[in-house]
This record gives sequence, structure tokens and C-alpha cells, in this order.
Amino acid sequence: MNPLLHPFDTAPFSKIKNEHFLPAIEELIKKTKSEIETIATNPMPPTFENTVEALEDSGRQLDRVTSIFFNLNSAETNDDIQKIAQEVSPLLSNFNNDLLLNKPLFERVKAVYEEKDSLELDPEQQMLLDKQYKSFSRNGANLSEKDKETLRKIDADLAKLKLTFGENVLAETNKFQLVITNEEDLSGLPDGAKEAAAQTASEKGIDGWVITLDYPSYIPFMMYADKRELRKELAIAFGAKGFHNDKLDNQLNVLTIVNLRHQRAQLLGYKSHAHFVLEERMAETPKKVQSFLLELLEKAKPAALREFSELETFAKERDGIDKLQKWDGAYYAEKLKQERFNLDDEKLKPYFELKNVINGVFTVAERLYDLQFNPIDDIDVYHPDVKTYRVTDNNNEPVAIFYADFHPRPGKRGGAWMTSYKSQEIRDGVNERPHVSIVCNFTKPTSSKPSLLTFNEVTTLFHEFGHALHGMLANTRYKGLSGTSVYWDFVELPSQILENWCYEKETLELFATHYETGEVIPMTYIEKIKESATFHEGIQTLRQLSFGMLDMAWHGSDPTHVKDVKAFEKGAFALTKLYPDVPENCMSTSFSHIFQGGYSAGYYSYKWAEVLDADAFAYFQQEGIFSKTIANKFKKFILSQGGTQDPMELYVKFRGQEPDPEALLKRAGLIER
Ligand SMILES: [Zn+2]
Repeated sequence: MNPLLHPFDTAPFSKIKNEHFLPAIEELIKKTKSEIETIATNPMPPTFENTVEALEDSGRQLDRVTSIFFNLNSAETNDDIQKIAQEVSPLLSNFNNDLLLNKPLFERVKAVYEEKDSLELDPEQQMLLDKQYKSFSRNGANLSEKDKETLRKIDADLAKLKLTFGENVLAETNKFQLVITNEEDLSGLPDGAKEAAAQTASEKGIDGWVITLDYPSYIPFMMYADKRELRKELAIAFGAKGFHNDKLDNQLNVLTIVNLRHQRAQLLGYKSHAHFVLEERMAETPKKVQSFLLELLEKAKPAALREFSELETFAKERDGIDKLQKWDGAYYAEKLKQERFNLDDEKLKPYFELKNVINGVFTVAERLYDLQFNPIDDIDVYHPDVKTYRVTDNNNEPVAIFYADFHPRPGKRGGAWMTSYKSQEIRDGVNERPHVSIVCNFTKPTSSKPSLLTFNEVTTLFHEFGHALHGMLANTRYKGLSGTSVYWDFVELPSQILENWCYEKETLELFATHYETGEVIPMTYIEKIKESATFHEGIQTLRQLSFGMLDMAWHGSDPTHVKDVKAFEKGAFALTKLYPDVPENCMSTSFSHIFQGGYSAGYYSYKWAEVLDADAFAYFQQEGIFSKTIANKFKKFILSQGGTQDPMELYVKFRGQEPDPEALLKRAGLIER
């Protein structure tokens, strides 16, 4: 019996074997196809209910099974799962394209769409109809049969290429290790990082210490290791992922992906991939994105140049460094920060035991939104490290199931993300509550210490938890519009706004207590955290803008003339460049956000959302950061609404006005407060 072919509520991980996925997905595709055929061939005239709603309702089990599968492929993968993914991905993209190129079905949706003004639909229904119609038209429903065929082939190729790109990055990350046998080579490293390196070595059966390209291993080494040559070796390895002219090289994959995306956009009548993507964004056009990025660049660059030259002087005076290189940046910035604030990660970490930080974020959710998180152990997990909670409101009504998976493993991709196993929706009068998960790669506990987070990891947890709240507090009718199913440049508002609470005394006092003594984090530290938060904000902003600009360079114009990935990338970095170029390195070949994930022509949205979050948080600050009035508005107009309305309209309902970039520039210290 295949557990994936039977109804389940929470994902039945303990019963699932790898060999269940392919047959289940094949079977469920068949089933969904027949559901769709019934809608497309309905003899009754098309109505909103028998067409748009019926379509929204189809393929439910398929959605759930594929979300389990792809979440595993990100968080707990292995060779088998990766192989299955290579088979499953083209099946799904073919199925999806069949659906979107189904002519009789499209004719019915179109018929409803053309009558939409006379149908008396509520805003959510209008949105669903609009989204559905566009999903067809933007996927070629109006194309000739021959062009449709071309489109199908492009999509199948793209799906495969994206997977290969990601697998190459993961393989490159796992392949490299810096083995250290002489303890002197670890000079400067905090004890925690040394212990972790020793533990990694012993897990690998190696004598000494091992540094890897996983963030919790890589970052402390770049920040603290005194041996410049070793920092250089590690940094070059990190920056060279997918750039070795071997079988894991991603240069050709990058070029093929951008060219296919461009062909696809042209076929559909758009000037570029970015034009196509931005049609469904708050930012609307590449031109608007470019000017948004350039405006911030103009504001941030003077500060960045000032900070950079100060850093150069500092490194020169301290160690006689003539030319500051990429592998010096984090190291000297940390030293300068220490000198200025006398506050390093290692001093703060004892106050941020993972257990306490989790309780802290739960308390914040309770004070703002009346949520309770009760640990449970009666549901399946895919790995023993995964923690589970039942989330309820103050009437003890179920709100969500919450999964949290915190530490790195070889089968987990890097970074942190939120995902879901079941979407919220109202079905047959029942408000189905969602199953939401966050996956992170936080510092592991060691034999002598619990998991102690860096402050950056603390804000990452708040960030992902903000996404999770967007999922958990969803309260919409249709799952396709629920939770984080919003425009990409709006989706980071709920996550980024929550990070603001980490800098507030009122919040830190709730959870930042020393893991050994129980002492609350000292006031002076809190003040310094706030002050140091904008340390090198100019440089950081430039870095983010450089990623956004690289993304727009790849996707905003015709890429057919590009033959040399590295040379093209250098051009795109021209306005934002601070450090000398490293010839062995290439950003694009491991830029998973835009080549594996969904951020193509969308990287700018991090900064876009910062404008929103700074402006929205300023509103909270006016009334007090735990103001129930503002929290209720945020819940009512933003968190619960998903994509049921235009995001700018929702924002204005919450805030009373459109977002103003000034709050961000002030918070960042780029203009006077
Ligand atoms: Zn995010």
C-alpha cells in the first residue's frame, strides 16, 4: 500500500519510502487530469463555480504529495531522492503545461473572465479569477499550436536545468573541506568554532579540524581566523562553486537558463524575462526596479565608500595590509566593530541559546497575535531533529501545525526558509488550518555547549518565523490565495518586519538570558546591538544592490550575445564594486536564488520589502511595539489576507498611506534621523 495515495492530515513521513513517490505522483497526475477533463468537458455553460472554483479544487492530493517530496529534496535529500526529482520534475512540468495549454478548459475560464463585471463576484473571487486567467494567458494559452509545443519544451528543459544547477551547488559545497592539523592555523577562532571544527573532523574520521563551506563553519572562519592565507583559500573555494570547468560547472547552465527564459518571454510577447515577471509584481516594470535600485545606490554609495576607505586604513594600520581583499572584509570589519562597540558575536552568543530564542519568538507571537505554541510528539517527522508544535489562539482553537528544523545536515541545502505541507483554506464550510515549517542551518550544539546562536541567526529565526506567521494566520477562502501566495515583492514584508523586534529592549528582555547564569542581557549590550546594527550599512546595502543589479542584468535584456559568464558579471558589478575582482570566483554559478529558486528578476524585492517593513515598523513604534491596535491591523489587513487583494491596497488599509522610503533610509543611518 502506498501511503501517499490515501488521505492523510499531517504528512505521514514514517510510512513513506522513497519508492512511493514516483508511482504516487504518476497516479495522482492521472487522477487530477481526469478531474480537469470533467471540468473542461462539462456540458453546462461555464460559470464561476463549475469552472474557476472547480479548478481551484482539483489536484489537492497531488499538491500535498509534491510539497512533501520537494520539501524533502531541500531539507533531507540523498542520491535516490535527487534521482527521483530528475524524473518527477519533467512529469510535473509536462502535466502543468498540459493543463495550462488545455484549450477547452481555457475557453471556459476565458468565458467567465470576459463576463466578470456582471457576475457580482466578491474581491477574493475576482482575484482568483484574475489569477487563473493570467496563469493561462501568461503560459501561452493564446499561442498557436506550434508555439505551444515550443513553450512546453522550454519549460521542461528549464525545470531540469534548475534542478541540476542546485545539485551542482550542493555537491560543490559538500566536496570541499579545509583540513587543519596544526592548531596554530586556528588562531583567532573562538572556542565554539574550534570545537565545531574538531567535531566535523571526527565525524569524517579525520584527525585535527575541518572547516567546510556550510555557513556555520565558513562564516566564523572568515570573521575570526588570523591566517590570511587560509581565509583566502576558503573564500576562493566558497566563491568558486560551480566555476571549475568540470562536470559540476554551472556556467553553461546559467547561460542556457537565461536564454531559455528570454526565448520564453519573447514567445509570449514580452520584451524580456524581467518584463514578463514584473507584470505580476508591485514594482510592475524593469524600469521602475532599475530606478528604485539606482536611487538607493545613490543614497548608499557615499556611505559605502566612506566605510570602505575607513576599513582599508584600519587594516593597513593594524596589519600593514596594502590592498584589502574580499577575504579581509569580514575579518577587519569584525575587528573594527569590536574596537568601536566592544561587542562580538561570541560575547552575545551565551545570551542566545536556541531554546530561549524559540521561546522568545513564541512570546512575541503571543503578545502580538494571541498565539500559543504547544510542543507535540504525536505526529510524524522526516528527521529526529525536527520539532513539532500545535498552535492555538486564545480560545484554544487550532491555528496551525508548526514544524521547525534547525541544524545543518549533509542532505540539507544551505540557508533558511519557510515552507508548508498543507495550505489554509475554507472548504465545505470548514476552515482547514495550515501545516507550516521552517528550515534553518543554525550552529549545532557541541558536547559541552547547547546551540548558541549568533545575533544574525537570531534575526534569521525571526525572519523565517515571520513568514511562518503569514502562513499560520492565513484566513482566506481559497488555498491558491492563502498565506504567502502573494506577489514576490510583498512576501518579505511579514518576515522582515519581525526582525525589527530583535533590536528592541522590550523584546530582548523577554528571552535573551545567559544560558549558564540566567542573567538578562545587559542594557549596554542592547544599546550596542542597536547602534552596531547599522555598522557598515552602506557596504551592506551596496552588496544587496549588487545582487539585485546582477539579477536584473541577466534577466532585463536580451542575453543571446553573452558568451562569458564571468565577464558579463563583472560588467554588472561595475557600479557597486568595492573589492578587487577575484579571477577564480564567479557569483552567478552558485546564485541559487535566481537560478534554482524563484527569485529571478526578483532579487530587488528584498530591498523593496525593506522599504515596506521599515515604514510599517515605524507605525508600530508610534504606538508601542506590542501595540494590540497596530498588531490587529497588521493581522487583519496583511497577515490574514494572503493574495486576496492588491498588495498596495492592503498596505494602505493597514498603514493609512503608501510606504515612504524615508523610514528605511533613517533606520539604516543613510540619512539623518
Ligand atoms: Zn524571507
